[in-house]
Amino acid sequence: MQRHRKVKILATLGPASSDEAMIRKLHEAGADLFRINMSHASHDVMRTLVGRIRAVEKSCGRPIGILADLQGPKLRVGKFADGAVALEAGQKFVLDSRDEPGDANRVFLPHPEILEAVQPGHRLLIDDGRLQLVAVETDKTSITCKVVSGTKISDRKGVSLPDTTLGVGALTEKDRADLDAVLAIGDDIDWVALSFIQRPEDLAEVRKIARGQVGLMSKIEKPQALERIDEIIELSDALMVARGDLGVEMPIESVPGIQKQLIRACRRAGKPVVVATQMLESMISAPVPTRAEVSDVATAVFEGADAVMLSAESAAGDYPVEAVSTMASIARKVELDPNYPGIIYAQRPQPDATGADAISLAARQIAETLNLSAVVCYTSSGTTGLRAARERPQVPIIALSPVIQTARRLSVVWGLHCVVTEDATDLDDMVDRACRITFREGFGKPGDRIIISAGVPLGTPGSTNMLRIAYIGSDGMSGI
Ligand code: PEP
Repeated sequence: MQRHRKVKILATLGPASSDEAMIRKLHEAGADLFRINMSHASHDVMRTLVGRIRAVEKSCGRPIGILADLQGPKLRVGKFADGAVALEAGQKFVLDSRDEPGDANRVFLPHPEILEAVQPGHRLLIDDGRLQLVAVETDKTSITCKVVSGTKISDRKGVSLPDTTLGVGALTEKDRADLDAVLAIGDDIDWVALSFIQRPEDLAEVRKIARGQVGLMSKIEKPQALERIDEIIELSDALMVARGDLGVEMPIESVPGIQKQLIRACRRAGKPVVVATQMLESMISAPVPTRAEVSDVATAVFEGADAVMLSAESAAGDYPVEAVSTMASIARKVELDPNYPGIIYAQRPQPDATGADAISLAARQIAETLNLSAVVCYTSSGTTGLRAARERPQVPIIALSPVIQTARRLSVVWGLHCVVTEDATDLDDMVDRACRITFREGFGKPGDRIIISAGVPLGTPGSTNMLRIAYIGSDGMSGI
């Protein structure tokens, strides 16, 4: 299966998309990897979904990435005696440590770490910001607030704290149990997304547990994470611009600028970046998107994001397949737009002073100068594939790896078409194999030329040091 699209599509699975036939349809419609949202999926459901995705992968023959998204410290108030209470601007309202049903004056807050950390003047945003409170008095057992705006609070509503740095790590008890279940599955899950991370130390903690078995994708949704974003990018394998919670924790109008900032920073670092949430929200209940949504997806593609994500559209909506195919056609159209190369290349980062970057830059230049059919790179750990993609070449990049886990993990990366193949035995085999796969996968025909990058000695990770131009022969093998 060949996709004529550089940007990748990450589709969330859920009740609308959990059977194998639907997962196959989503993959065929354009989903390159799938997200399992651990806020909703039990361990049994997760294992079942993983099995079904792998069955689709086997029959379709393309490596498919799987991302398990950990819930993180999602904070909520307790319950009310009557389910909900009405509030008025200016009135006092207390959140406290008393585990009893709430009323019009108070509610239980089952998070001692918030009671510890909130200071007078900090904002508390309830129910995605629909109710805004500001702390006026705090002791270690209660926070007395003034209602700034909003009229209602009800059972188990979420609490966001844009001004407060919490003394909690990235992993809650539930996250630890979920991460254990993910790691116990073995090599079948490729990425873990970490929600509400605040500082680089949060990642270090998870990295110790995961021991490289999964890639770590940091969801950026807290202002505290933005303050130390360079260190967070350095310690992450990928980033997600989690615009849902980000738009609650930060003024909503700052989200587009932050999206640009994060995409640019990730492109500079050569780490994949996913733009997420409400991209085609109206398609949850309608077969066509709004003009604004089309524009939103197009913006992420023009900015050079690695992937765009569907949440409820594919997980719980009425039109999951249409949402994926709509996203795919928007992306394809943007990538064919005459303005696209100029816009995307304006942000091309300088190479680092490494062999891999010098080779990736040269491969792109040679491919574009000689109008070659593809850049083919051998990548065992995935690093060479990432550096090749960082160049954002106009021609397809075929990433050849002997490691299926590498190919799956790279499914989130801009422009990479990954193929699993054994390590080449010698230079002739390396060239023949690259030509044969380019031909077989439909990226070149006899007489076309490709550029191949590899590391000699062959099969040595991190040794990218060689470029070779090759003709595809009449039998699909190397001509020269
Ligand atoms: C988000 O907040 O944008 C997000 C992707 O996270 P979740 O869907 O887990 O709320």
